[in-house]
Amino acid sequence: MPTVASRPVPRLRIDLHTHSTWSDGTTSVAELLEQAAGYRLDAIALTDHDTTAGWEEARAHVARTGVMVIPGIEVSCEHGRASVHVLALLADPAPTTELAQELEACRASRRGRAQRMVTRLAEDFPLTWDDVRAQAAGEDTTLGRPHIADALVAAGVVRDRGEAFATMLAPSSPYYVPHAAPSPEVAVAAIRKAGGVAIAAHPASTSRGGDADPELLEAMIAAGLHGIEVDHREHSEEQREHLRALARRHGLLVTGGSDYHGRGKPNRLGENLTAPEVLEEIISLAGASPSGTEVLRP
Ligand code: AMP
Ligand code: FE
Ligand code: FE
Ligand code: ZN
Repeated sequence: MPTVASRPVPRLRIDLHTHSTWSDGTTSVAELLEQAAGYRLDAIALTDHDTTAGWEEARAHVARTGVMVIPGIEVSCEHGRASVHVLALLADPAPTTELAQELEACRASRRGRAQRMVTRLAEDFPLTWDDVRAQAAGEDTTLGRPHIADALVAAGVVRDRGEAFATMLAPSSPYYVPHAAPSPEVAVAAIRKAGGVAIAAHPASTSRGGDADPELLEAMIAAGLHGIEVDHREHSEEQREHLRALARRHGLLVTGGSDYHGRGKPNRLGENLTAPEVLEEIISLAGASPSGTEVLRP
């Protein structure tokens, strides 16, 4: 009897961490979705730093590109002197939430901080505030060191963002100025209150081969963390195994994402992915809250 060859059902391709020109990515949201379609991605989370400003633009391009968008934010946090990132997925974007107020304060502080860094840099390099502003797509762009780096590249001071970050923009540099940001525990709690799903972004990325800060992760879990971004370019195999085990022990979701920044970083769109079952769980968690946001479906 002839057998019918069983074809595997194609798995959905989901990248839960991307940036656009609303923060420090170099591709517009429209281009980002076109590129995602080109890479045969079914869904991406738009997770610009400290802003929901790109969500409207995403809504306008899902139907044309056929790519589903999970509205997200990468929330900048401060833990001691370390910068820590938390992904907020499907949180309420209303300006009245505690989360929105934290983000607003962070963006305002980032602007003053960038100005102070430029003032310091301008003493030694050909750089003006207008040069830095010209690197941001618009007035509402979340300003960061990458925009200062791009202005330094345009001025011929450094070759690329990487060189700027390794030298004058490093936290140890005399030109460096920090910005205000919530603690990771406050951010996680604020994301939950806004009906969102809180994921620790690349928690082992800054540890240079070591494991993520276990005490910090425990504190974030106690504050209500939903998941850990395990599959990320800056995590080694050993770190991924360790984080996967930690997630299993605590019953946390495991996500993956490219952290795509266009030409701003070598990360390739879709190079790390999230399992479809995990996205379903994220959607149902946000859906169970009265304030969560809906996925943008093509
Ligand atoms: P900021 O939040 O303004 O302090 O800047 C940190 C941002 O710069 C992070 O979101 C990264 O995406 C980006 N970044 C950090 N290191 C590098 C690097 N070596 N090359 C390019 N971008 C970087
Ligand atoms: Fe970034
Ligand atoms: Fe990050
Ligand atoms: Zn990121």
